[in-house]
Amino acid sequence: MPCPSGVNIPRNLSYLNDIFMLDDVENARFQYGVLLLPEEKAGNCVECGECEEVCPQNIRIREMLKEVRGIFE
Ligand code: SF4
Repeated sequence: MPCPSGVNIPRNLSYLNDIFMLDDVENARFQYGVLLLPEEKAGNCVECGECEEVCPQNIRIREMLKEVRGIFE
C-alpha cells in the first residue's frame, strides 16, 4: 500500500532488518542516505497509521520507522 506521505516503507524496514541480520550498520546507513529520496525516508512519516490499518501482518510500522529514524537520522 502506498504511503500518502511518500515513505518507502518496505525499503526502510529492510535497512532495519539488514542491521539485525547482517550486523552492518554503516552499509545500511550509506544505502539509506543515498538510495532513498528525501520523501521516502522514515523521517517523513507523519504517523497517520494508514499503513498499519491495512497491514496483513500487523507490523508496528510506525514504531519501526521511529527506530529507523533514530539510527539513520
Ligand atoms: S504511518 Fe507513516 S508510513 Fe504509515 S502511512 Fe502514515 S505517514 Fe506513511
